[in-house]
Amino acid sequence: MIDIQNVSKWYGQFQVLTDCNTTINKGEVVVVCGPSGSGKSTLIKTVNGLEEIQKGDIIVNGTSIADPKTDLSKLRSRVGMVFQHFELFPHLSITENLTVAQVKVLGRSMDEAKKKGLAYLDRVGLSAHAHKYPAELSGGQQQRVAIARALSMDPIAMLFDEPTSALDPEMINEVLDVMVSLAKEGMTMMCVTHEMGFARQVADRIIFMDKGIIEEDCSKDEFFGAPRGERAQQFLAKIL
Ligand code: ADP
Ligand code: MG
Repeated sequence: MIDIQNVSKWYGQFQVLTDCNTTINKGEVVVVCGPSGSGKSTLIKTVNGLEEIQKGDIIVNGTSIADPKTDLSKLRSRVGMVFQHFELFPHLSITENLTVAQVKVLGRSMDEAKKKGLAYLDRVGLSAHAHKYPAELSGGQQQRVAIARALSMDPIAMLFDEPTSALDPEMINEVLDVMVSLAKEGMTMMCVTHEMGFARQVADRIIFMDKGIIEEDCSKDEFFGAPRGERAQQFLAKIL
């Protein structure tokens, strides 16, 4: 579903990604972890073309992101992305947040978009809040709306970049629960997170990044079981 091939990226002179390779199969859940500044956000953003790469290629569901003929905005509409800071439109109601891209990007009718958006809102347990504005919801609720909004676009895969790290502790689980249920339903997911409980529960693979390099790419049993490389061990010792 997502094939990352020899990807390197520079910000000016600074090489942020070096020869990254990995493949995420349909239905797989891959957790990406590593120290701050190791390139996790950059890597995940390259997957839907939000960050340009200078070397290598990424094939998303058969489409090359490096191919100049690829319509990146079309590709982006098929890959759901949820960021650390809930990026709901503050001036739009929850219903409008859920429908605007479905109508504008996918060309769905308002009725169809509402039906779909509200069904996903129900799935994340928030149907009672459809008429509200983002500022009236807690951080955890806003993040669940962001997930419902991404799902309303019928994504072929979901990318998460530290979706719980800006949340108060009591709200983390309500968001992780939604992610766990998605994972169990077979959604293809690439999740940057330091929530190792989540990783243990649903990850098929763990990628550990350090200084722009994929240092480890293995099953969660291998990652948590046998001792990994020194950098991964140091990292795990700090967060576990
Ligand atoms: P992580 O998500 O693992 O914390 P990032 O991908 O955000 O890491 O950043 C990796 C490195 O790239 C960091 O050193 C960061 O300062 C740098 N960086 C990130 N975005 C930019 C940018 N737009 N311009 C220049 N450097 C950047
Ligand atoms: Mg980051």
